Amino acid sequence: MASIAILGVPLDLGASRRGVEMGPSAVRLARLATRLEQLGHTVVDCGDVRVPTRETLRLENGIDFLPTITDVCRDVAARTAAFVRAGQIPLVLGGDHSVAGGSVAGVSTALAERGERLGLIWLDAHADLNTPASTLTGNVHGMPVAHLLGHGDSGMASLAKPNPAVRAENVVIIGARDLDQAERVHAREFGVTIYTMRDIDERGMRAVLLEATAKASNGTAGIHVSLDLDFIDPREAPGVGTPVRGGATFREAHLAMETLWDTGQLVSIDLVEVNPVLDEVNHTAELAVGLMASAFGQRII
Ligand code: MG
Ligand code: MG
Repeated sequence: MASIAILGVPLDLGASRRGVEMGPSAVRLARLATRLEQLGHTVVDCGDVRVPTRETLRLENGIDFLPTITDVCRDVAARTAAFVRAGQIPLVLGGDHSVAGGSVAGVSTALAERGERLGLIWLDAHADLNTPASTLTGNVHGMPVAHLLGHGDSGMASLAKPNPAVRAENVVIIGARDLDQAERVHAREFGVTIYTMRDIDERGMRAVLLEATAKASNGTAGIHVSLDLDFIDPREAPGVGTPVRGGATFREAHLAMETLWDTGQLVSIDLVEVNPVLDEVNHTAELAVGLMASAFGQRII
């Protein structure tokens, strides 16, 4: 059984739609820790990382929040590194997806101390491959994969020691259905693997996941899974800031999590972009908790 450390990061500075800073509360309200304990795991909730309130910063443009987001991510990285050193699996609750710039960097740093590398599976409607130079929106939650690969802002790109946090050959994005032109170029230039929704339609979720985990775990000690709730179709997960039609179904999402558990490669995981303000009576947070249960070994029989 696993030892799981939950860390909340109530960060909304990387997104333009407000409310995602309440994501950790909504997920806790949906009884995340209890569900995982019922599976036999040891669970410690370490509370939230301190995040400045947007109104105290007096900034307008999304990209202006980058230094503050970098500070938050540095704190998150220190925490996830400490969890891994202690033999725990970090479970990081966003907040917007920019928190993964910290969580992944910390896990990568702790593995590097043992001479090991980290693979990354990014479940998302988006590729999050923009940089401060390419972004059309200024939203930092559209950039974490680029930063983890060592591109973009030098501060964000160097949170892992050594950096970059991950190698492109071990980075797999799954569920993509909304990329802008710069991200298409970056996907090729950076060399990451992307499985779009079409790949899932044609080949099935389990086949895609097994191929993805093989790539992410090739030469690595295990896999960080970063789950953006907009991976799932908005009919099932309405409480997200950037919904895109045509996402994974309820069962496809569970099968993805069940398959990840089957591989035994899970080192750490993020659950991000749950936005209670846009949700319907906490439905998305409850879905998210069910998915975490599947990711940690829940079976139907
Ligand atoms: Mg994302
Ligand atoms: Mg997304």
